[in-house]
Amino acid sequence: MLPTGISRRIILLAVLALAFVSVLYLGASREPLDATHPGPLEPKRQESADSNAVLLTGHAIAPKLGNATAKAELGRAAWKVLHTTFARFPKKPTDDEKEALRSFVHLFQRLYPCGECAEHFGKVLAKYPPQVSSRSAAAGWGCFVHNVVNKRLGKPEFNCEDIGDAYDCGCGDEEPKTKG
Ligand SMILES: Cc1cc2nc3c(=O)[nH]c(=O)nc-3n(C[C@H](O)[C@H](O)[C@H](O)COP(=O)(O)OP(=O)(O)OC[C@H]3O[C@@H](n4cnc5c(N)ncnc54)[C@H](O)[C@@H]3O)c2cc1C
Repeated sequence: MLPTGISRRIILLAVLALAFVSVLYLGASREPLDATHPGPLEPKRQESADSNAVLLTGHAIAPKLGNATAKAELGRAAWKVLHTTFARFPKKPTDDEKEALRSFVHLFQRLYPCGECAEHFGKVLAKYPPQVSSRSAAAGWGCFVHNVVNKRLGKPEFNCEDIGDAYDCGCGDEEPKTKG
């Protein structure tokens, strides 16, 4: 039996309603094209934050150094680099500069060429994470962790009040050139 005019209209309305619901459903289940929508990007961001944390705090990479003379020479040079880096860090660093210093300290520890020193220093960093909010915070923190190492090695404690003068290379404070 052929549908009457009213039945035809009901069928037509039903088909339209079904099409409308399908369009809504498909639209919701597709990845949004709008780059400002954070939805599908969240898991990736989390993934990259996790891999960054592993990169910074993973195992010490170098083998055991052993040789006491080489270890001491390396140590003096390394502390000089670290303290001078802190002494020339910006007084008011940007977020990018803070992250750069934090990553540098962690990777410095992981790659430090004396494996057994790096192993121990990794534990120091886990307990006392790098302070990167300003030059004085970084320099004070550097002095403190050097004293932690000094204490473990039976060396005298350094007076951290003198840290500003001790690593002033007299090189001035000009802004770095951005190009050239
Ligand atoms: C990250 C790291 C971990 C180390 N771990 C070990 C380890 O596990 N075992 C090991 O045998 N050696 C380790 N060393 C080496 C050790 O710390 C010394 O560098 C080395 O024994 C030589 O000591 P030093 O007496 O000549 O003076 P250093 O400790 O090398 O210090 C050099 C100079 O820095 C100044 N100074 C001293 N203390 C401070 C301070 N708190 N803040 C600022 N300046 C200071 C003094 O003027 C000193 O003469 C490590 C070095 C580093 C950088």
